[in-house]
Amino acid sequence: MESPPNSPDRKPQGFTTRAIHHGYDPYAGFGSLIPPIHVSSTYAFRSAEDGGQRFAGEAPGYIYSRLANPTNSLLEARMAELEGGEAAVVTGSGMGAIGSLMWSMLSPGDEILTDMTLYGCTFALFHHAMEKFGVQVRHVDLLDGDALAGQISPVTKLLFFETPANPNMRVIDIEAVARAARGHGIKTVVDNTYMSPYLQRPIELGADLVVHSATKYLGGHGDLLAGVVVGSAEDIETIRYRGVKNMTGSCLSAFDGHLLLRGLKTLGIRMELHSDNAQVLAEFLACHPAVQHVYYPGLPGAPGHAVAKRQMRRFGGMIALELKGGMQIGLRFINSLKLFTRAVSLGDCESLVQHPTSMTHSTYTSDERRRHGITDGTIRLSVGLEDVEDLKEDLEAALDAIYAD
Ligand code: PLP
Repeated sequence: MESPPNSPDRKPQGFTTRAIHHGYDPYAGFGSLIPPIHVSSTYAFRSAEDGGQRFAGEAPGYIYSRLANPTNSLLEARMAELEGGEAAVVTGSGMGAIGSLMWSMLSPGDEILTDMTLYGCTFALFHHAMEKFGVQVRHVDLLDGDALAGQISPVTKLLFFETPANPNMRVIDIEAVARAARGHGIKTVVDNTYMSPYLQRPIELGADLVVHSATKYLGGHGDLLAGVVVGSAEDIETIRYRGVKNMTGSCLSAFDGHLLLRGLKTLGIRMELHSDNAQVLAEFLACHPAVQHVYYPGLPGAPGHAVAKRQMRRFGGMIALELKGGMQIGLRFINSLKLFTRAVSLGDCESLVQHPTSMTHSTYTSDERRRHGITDGTIRLSVGLEDVEDLKEDLEAALDAIYAD
């Protein structure tokens, strides 16, 4: 006799099967193949006592959609499954996820250790907001395996990093860093936005919590803003009921939850094609005489290539580059592109190009950018799903155009 779908005797299903099916029974309810969008902001209690018991956590049932919503509960179960965590909470944006985590887990006097390079608004949250409320932030070069141990102090509570980092593609060894942090009783948080759980699963490598801007690859179509945190059931309960419920209010609309569930179904095939396209373009750029540097972990000589090969399934769709001639030539190149759209964000079907110094990382001062490894000439490409020959032609034409006249 065949074992039921969730039986422990069943062989584990593949990533995409789980991304399409996990947590939903189409035969239940009306038999709808696609899970319904629950639009209700609030939920009826059977009696006053039932309501009181739900608030006290003594009876099951929904209360109010800022705390939990059935459409988003399915999404949370699916994200926890795909990232290999016990539980997840979805939020109104990636910054909502990072902010809700930080505000609920840290107190004045605590310290965050973080890598040198962060997405611009995460850098701003840490330095312009957390520090204002008495949380210290210190940067450590996590590429140096021995640096971390010497920096941990009795008030260090969290270690936070992106890998690959936005925008300069620093690749951090998750397993080594998480092991060192755990030895000191510190929780490791990885921003997995650039990779998605299809390409990299930090919890399996020892991290405690994973955050995402789900606006990017998880949604995949540039039509929503969302975030997610995955981790232990205990940590997620704290982040949901302290951070999201009482501090940030950064909850996700059920309509966007539905779009995210739809995006997850094609995550695997999209990440394969993003990786195929980016590999071809990175190799092309690396050989072009106008290009000074290409930062893509799939290039055999790239810093971090060996670590990337170990901890990622493929190398993803993000490339950073610098042209000979620096920022002015770089801006001219950006303005000459026709198929790559000039826009921030990443992970969409459309290829995008942006200039971190004047855009996503303008939250740093120029001195901070210099100290944190973000050069003025850096150009960031989010390689989309168009036919790669068309993308290559666009890059080639723009590289030719910068030297015309
Ligand atoms: N983390 C990374 C690595 C990002 O690139 C971004 C946005 O670009 C965020 C977090 C913030 O996400 P959101 O824009 O969804 O708030």
